[in-house]
This record gives sequence, structure tokens and C-alpha cells, in this order.
Amino acid sequence: MAVAVVSRHGEEAIRRGHPWIWRSAVVHLSAPAPGADGQAAAGAIGRIESSSGEHLGCGILDPVSPLAVRVWTRGDRLDATLFSERLASALRVRTSLFVDGTTTAYRILNGEGDRVPGFVVDRYADVAVLRIDGDAARAVAPRLLGDLERQLRAIGITTLLEREAPRGGEKTTRVVWGEARERVEVREHAVPFVVDLLKGQKTGAFLDQRENRRRVGAIVERRKRAGLGTRVLNLFSYAGGFSLRAALAGGTVTSVDIATQAHAAAQESFRLAGLDPKAHAFVTADAFAWLDSAKKRGETFDVVISDPPSFAPNEKAKPKGIAAYKTLHRACTGVLADGGTFVAASCSSHVDAEDFHATLGDDVLGRDLRLLETHGPPADHPTLPVFSEGRYLKLVVLE
Ligand code: SAH
Repeated sequence: MAVAVVSRHGEEAIRRGHPWIWRSAVVHLSAPAPGADGQAAAGAIGRIESSSGEHLGCGILDPVSPLAVRVWTRGDRLDATLFSERLASALRVRTSLFVDGTTTAYRILNGEGDRVPGFVVDRYADVAVLRIDGDAARAVAPRLLGDLERQLRAIGITTLLEREAPRGGEKTTRVVWGEARERVEVREHAVPFVVDLLKGQKTGAFLDQRENRRRVGAIVERRKRAGLGTRVLNLFSYAGGFSLRAALAGGTVTSVDIATQAHAAAQESFRLAGLDPKAHAFVTADAFAWLDSAKKRGETFDVVISDPPSFAPNEKAKPKGIAAYKTLHRACTGVLADGGTFVAASCSSHVDAEDFHATLGDDVLGRDLRLLETHGPPADHPTLPVFSEGRYLKLVVLE
């Protein structure tokens, strides 16, 4: 059997329940290496031991990745039965979270956070989309996922797709079982929207912002009731999730995204929800350049939402990422009306909540705003207490 012997540091991380052991914390690792043709799968299910030979647990071992071990259990069994038990437990949580039936798109399995490191499954109505992270997890998947189809069919899933995003390659979507599907209509807190299963980002949509989209709706509603302005600017609007909630709450929304096809999807969702997209603006532009010109025109908004793509995909990019957030935030408050609400989000895993808050200081914003709300990932994207890497999503509301 494959074995990873870990350092003292690695041993402590495992005892705390951290699911990732980097190569630097591995003293010795024996697992099948990639085949000579470079094609054969690398990785194995294996035992984890301390330097003194003590059993620490089981995980997925990767002989080539810097992420050498994904720890699944401190027990001595990692097999299809363990996966099946953890999937059942994850489904029990989701069933209770979404028991009112108004939300049909959510994350069923959140990898590390559901103690199934490497495996993510999202639900879009009757379609599920599987994403497997890393070559090692992909190599061992056939030995673990035996019960996935039965449990998914039992909750009404008729098609399983797999999203593959090879390093540096094009994203592809393949049918694992069921009928091929391209788009599906889902509901989020009863609000309908359309998901592009083939070209959509992540596994189709950004499910992690669901509760925040609802919060934005509540903010616009509160402002409207109080007789405050409801001109909304949604930057990096993608398929218009925040825009839709803001418009349904009575706001007039300008959505800005660099991708034209994002607006087509957004407008379709507006129509589905009974809104006339012509009453709102959809602008295809670079958000930074657009903010510059809006400021020059003297345009202002009562609510500004900023949810950019990750600015710091790795630790090295962190200083640049922080600088980019500051530039963006300063530009956002530059078009924020007096008494306006600024909603700022970050999905950079290498910029933590404190770092992110520091990009919203008075010196950056040039305004004296107060922090009303701070939010992280929603309950269907659980994390582990010691696994801060899982809490990449931050959202703050300032006014
Ligand atoms: N807020 C969205 C998710 C945003 S994802 C939601 O709730 O679903 C990031 C989006 O930023 C993508 O749609 C991408 O096309 C867009 N984008 C990336 N760089 C941009 C830029 N410089 N200006 C405007 N949009 C950009």
C-alpha cells in the first residue's frame, strides 16, 4: 500500500484536522508515479504515518504535485464506503438547508469542507456537475465514487456531468450518465435564472454568492422603503445575479462586465423573472476604464457592488492583488453618492478577511464609511475551522 511519512509539522496539521499536506512536510512518499508516457494516472489511496511509524490517517497521495497529501480521515479506512457515508451526511445537511424548496441550485459536496477532499458536486435542478481537483483524486475516483449515482438519483438528479479544467487547457464538460444537457433553469430563493452548463464559470454559476445576492436585494429594498436612492451599479456582473436581485427590489441597475455573452444570459434571466431588461443598462467594458469615465462624467450611484475575479491566484501575486483591490475600491467610492452603500467582495484565496478589510481603509476610500456587514461563504459551502484556505469568499457592506 502507498505510504506518506510526514514531518512533525505535518503531523500537527493532521491532528488539527487540516486536510492539506504540502510536499515540504512530507519526509517520504511511495505511490505509483506517472507512466513513462506521462499519461498514466499518478496518485493512490494511502496511509499516512509519523516519522516514528505511528498511524495518522489515510488520504490521497500525489507523487508529483506540491500538494502531496489530501487527508481524508484519521481512521484506517478510505474506501467507497467512507465516501458513501460522507455523501449521505452532506446530503442530510443540504436537505435541511433547502427544505422549503425555493432554491434548486446549491453545492451538494464541497470537497475539503465536507471531508471529501478533491471532490465537488453542484446541483442545478435535476442536473449535477462533478469537479475533481487534481490528478491524484482523478486517478482514485473510480474506487471511491461507486455510490454517487444511486444517492444522486435518489434526490431526483437525472444527469451527471463532469467539468474538467486541465491545467492551461480548455474547460470541457462530459456526460458521466444521463442525457446531455446544455442549459438549465434553476431557482434561488424563488428567483429564476438560467445556467449555462457548458460555458458557465466554475461548474456553471457562482453558487457561493447566493446569500449575498439575496442580501443585496434586501439592501435595495431597505433603501427604497426609507426613501433613499436606488440607482445601482453592479461591476463584474457576469450573469447578472446581483443585478437581478437589485432590480427585483426596485432598483435601476447598470451592469458592467467585459464579457458580452454574460449580459445575454443576464437579460434572459431578467425576462424570466418578469423584468424588462430595457429598463436597465448592460455595459460591455473594462470596469476600471468605465469607472474612470463615469467619474469624469460626474455620474454617481446609490449602491455600488464590486465582485471582481480573483486578483491573487497564488501567494506571489498577493501584493499586486492587494494593490488592485485598493485601486478598484478607490474608483468605486469615486462614483458612490453621498449616503450610498458600497458592497465589496473578494474571492482571492490568498487575501484573507483582514487583508481585504485593510483595502477599505479611509486612506484608500477617501471617505468615512462604516462597516455594516461582513459575510463569508454560505452554509452549503462549508469549510473546516482550521482550513482558512476554504474561506476564500469575503463580502462587506459599507455605508
Ligand atoms: N458577480 C458575479 C460573479 C463575477 S465573476 C455573480 O454574482 O455571479 C467575475 C466577472 O468579471 C466575469 O464575468 C468576468 O467576465 C468579469 N471581468 C473580468 N475582468 C473584468 C474587467 N477588467 N472588467 C469588467 N469585467 C471583468
